Amino acid sequence: GLKRAVRVQAIASEPRVAVTSNNGAAPGTTLGDWSPESWRKRTAHQQPNYPDKEEVAKACGEIKSYPPLIFAGECRNLQERLAKAAVGEAFILQGGDCAEAFTQFSANQIRDTYRVLLQMSVVMMFGGGVPVVKLGRMAGQFAKPRSADLETKGDVSLPSYRGDIINGPEFTEQARIPDPWRLVRAYNQSAATLNLLRGFSTGGYAGLKRIANWNLDFMANSDEGKAYMDLARRVDEALQFMMACGLSSDSDIMSETEFYTSHECLLLDYEEALTRLDSTTNTWYDCSAHFLWCGERTRQLDASHVEFMRGIQNPIGVKVSDKMDPAELVSLIASLNPDNTPGRLAVIVRMGAEKLRAKFPALIEAVEQAGQVVTWVCDPMHGNTESCNGFKTRRYDNVRAEVEAFFDVHDAMGSVPGGVHLEMTGDNVTECVGGGSAVGEEDLNTRYHTHCDPRLNAEQSLEMAFYVASRLRQ
Ligand code: PEP
Ligand code: MN
Repeated sequence: GLKRAVRVQAIASEPRVAVTSNNGAAPGTTLGDWSPESWRKRTAHQQPNYPDKEEVAKACGEIKSYPPLIFAGECRNLQERLAKAAVGEAFILQGGDCAEAFTQFSANQIRDTYRVLLQMSVVMMFGGGVPVVKLGRMAGQFAKPRSADLETKGDVSLPSYRGDIINGPEFTEQARIPDPWRLVRAYNQSAATLNLLRGFSTGGYAGLKRIANWNLDFMANSDEGKAYMDLARRVDEALQFMMACGLSSDSDIMSETEFYTSHECLLLDYEEALTRLDSTTNTWYDCSAHFLWCGERTRQLDASHVEFMRGIQNPIGVKVSDKMDPAELVSLIASLNPDNTPGRLAVIVRMGAEKLRAKFPALIEAVEQAGQVVTWVCDPMHGNTESCNGFKTRRYDNVRAEVEAFFDVHDAMGSVPGGVHLEMTGDNVTECVGGGSAVGEEDLNTRYHTHCDPRLNAEQSLEMAFYVASRLRQ
């Protein structure tokens, strides 16, 4: 509300401490000895141990010769949207698979996740009254950090699965050997996915006039499906009204939407191969996705990932658990966003509801004291993973409780909730338990398809969108 907006203006206009001074130089031009390969001089955590380094160089050489997947100008547009989210004038919806997979790759899967994201964004826009920035965890979300290098079953230990861009999920010695040619396959799958997403976004599928067509068949009879259709009818009415007022039926919003892609910036050989000099600004962009984030396990200040990410000019994110302390966060933000550019950096908090209530206020306080502008995003998934009947799962109630805590803390602090980051799918999976869809613990084995972390299914995702909308409205 108003209180929030006023407070934010105060923060944005009079930083209490100057974070850095670059003597008025344009962002990205004061990077010192940064280069796309300067990360190689630091310690790179969570990288595969390829048996044949020459093959890696060959595969990366191939990718270096391929076209970029995105255009730098799109990243700058996204950054402007994210800057709006930092001050409460927009809200980010970031969502998709924990890990995309070579074997779960089809037009229908892409379309179903895309349309649930569209539905969620309409619910949040209509309920919350702010534009929603749609950011898929799609078209490149392949590499996974792992807590253990080895996976053990019975008396057999094999290297952990690290995502399809690195090795295979099957529990065999052969599948777990990192294969550099998977890099090329991941690039191609990303390009094909992005191509379809762009087609949906500008080809007419995503126009607001089709809002009632986005409901998924299997949701028609669920509470979420009905609530959505009810809202779609109200949006239709509002559009009719706007057209009566003069909004043209061939206005852009009736036929297209903006959609951006993102993934964890983990596998640095791949990210380096797609990092290109933008000819319009003479600065470097990682052209594998519009937005990249640094994971909780690779955010060490002196290590490779932070070194790489500080130099790319894409908008970026960093994941933060309860292990982060306030002073360390301020230093990390200063490294990743030395010019304090609004929209450049999202801090994606993931600690579970209880820890978030205890630890998040001090982080916000320290960042505000330092005069740093960040976009706060809530990832309610990664602090709520548990194991049940041999499956990794998450309880809808715990996920929702973390989102609730995130909004409560911001309300109490007068700071701004900028977005949510969800692992979700349009498929009717049974990976997370609870919510209106009432997936029980006993149902986990029926449609458990993820190779990595459990995702909200379409109904659970929509339910979450309605909850977020209710909080944005307040
Ligand atoms: C993820 O987003 O899938 C992930 C591994 O997150 P985190 O780095 O927060 O653990
Ligand atoms: Mn995950």
